[in-house]
Amino acid sequence: MNAAKWEAVIGLEVHVQLQTAGKIFAPAANAYGADANTQACALSVALPGTLPVMNREAARLAVRFGLAIGAKINRRSLFARKHYFYPDLPKGYQISQYEHPVVGAGHLEIAEEDDDNNGGGVKRIGITRAHLEEDAGKSLHEDFDGMSGIDLNRAGTPLLEIVSEPDLRSPAEAAAYLRALHALVKYLGVSDGNMQEGSFRCDANVSLRRAGASELGTRAEIKNLNSFRFVEKAIAHEIARQTEILESGGAVAQETRLYDADLDQTRPMRSKEDAHDYRYFPDPDLPPLVLDEEFIEAARADLPELPGARKLRFERDFQLPARDAAKLAFDRGFADYFETATAAGADAKTAANWMLGELSAALNRDGLRIEESPLGGAQLAEILARIADRSISGKSAKEVFQAVWRGEGGVDEIINARGLRQITDDSEIENVVARVVAEHPEQAAQYRAGKQKVFGFFVGRVMQASGGKAEPARVNEMLRRALDSE
Ligand code: ADP
Ligand code: MG
Repeated sequence: MNAAKWEAVIGLEVHVQLQTAGKIFAPAANAYGADANTQACALSVALPGTLPVMNREAARLAVRFGLAIGAKINRRSLFARKHYFYPDLPKGYQISQYEHPVVGAGHLEIAEEDDDNNGGGVKRIGITRAHLEEDAGKSLHEDFDGMSGIDLNRAGTPLLEIVSEPDLRSPAEAAAYLRALHALVKYLGVSDGNMQEGSFRCDANVSLRRAGASELGTRAEIKNLNSFRFVEKAIAHEIARQTEILESGGAVAQETRLYDADLDQTRPMRSKEDAHDYRYFPDPDLPPLVLDEEFIEAARADLPELPGARKLRFERDFQLPARDAAKLAFDRGFADYFETATAAGADAKTAANWMLGELSAALNRDGLRIEESPLGGAQLAEILARIADRSISGKSAKEVFQAVWRGEGGVDEIINARGLRQITDDSEIENVVARVVAEHPEQAAQYRAGKQKVFGFFVGRVMQASGGKAEPARVNEMLRRALDSE
């Protein structure tokens, strides 16, 4: 592959399920995992005569997202019918926004790829629009003796389709954008973001053009990407495939391709429809969605501090490095935990290190989200306070952390029960040091004759004699003094 010759251009379309109790045009529940068709209301199964009614909460969440990406909110947007045939779409059309979406142009900032390891900058990715639409049902191809089943529980679930500008230039950049978007919708409570359950799905548009060209090349759209890793792999694969075609003088076909994660390859699904194939027209059953200023301003007033602003505040107020600040701030659970710990007196840098190290590892190990951590921010602060006041060593602190995690008790309770408190009393350590040195005159003589290695022997003996509780730094200091003095 001749990487210098071609530039990759990528735009993502992301479907986000909105976290509402009801469907977008009906009050029926849309909880995930219910028995098939138990949430298929009259509207979901397209009974003639049923009429859609806009869900106010879905509109509020769309506006909330739009404001968070600095987008223009359209006071008047329209619903259109997008026609296609599929068994899980009994109406024969999907209700979507086409010409007039509720959210106009905005942007999202991502951390730039840090190739030269200087911390990296920030790149602004344009978001063209975000529009409301309904989800379709699901076809079930297993357990029906060669036939397919249809589950219409998901039909009518509110979706926000978020369309990016073709601003992304590499698989890694696309993944970074997707992660930032995922974190944002979760942060805002716009979506639960559960990718296994299909709450956050991505189609990737990929094309190549000659380096330096300004025209866009012909794109392929890859469907069925349900993990960050697959998105990155599928795009990398697609870039390689198109490079090969163009290098051999061929032309890329505009088509929709499907990513097969098992084979790590994309294959053609269908040639891409043009918009006119869908026969879009405004849905006569739904009036325009008109938002008044009050509704928009209420949503604006209700916005939390956004991840980008929080990251900057963490850098400024706690002197955290940009990378750590981003890791904490872009995940709302981590950011809240960090603030609880520092409010309880924890040193910010130490708390950040423990959260990104010990705590993250424990969460991963037990498959927990930070909101479910059995050890809270205030308890982490307590452990760090015991290190700071020299009650326990850093090594014991990890033991305490794991014991609190397992529910064995409070921080001080565990320190006492396990006898982890360090001896910081100088006279007590001095006594042990004097005794150990007196008991080993031969080794003391060797040390004084210049055999530095024997020092470690003495440290070991003192630690042993103190039951491992003497503070190592003090032991070193006092041993040097005792051995050097005679
Ligand atoms: P469609 O309506 O066919 O889905 P859009 O024009 O809405 O097409 O674009 C869909 C997505 O494809 C957007 O994210 C856009 O940035 C991206 N896109 C459009 N043209 C290209 C291209 N030539 N190369 C890569 N991405 C593209
Ligand atoms: Mg599209």
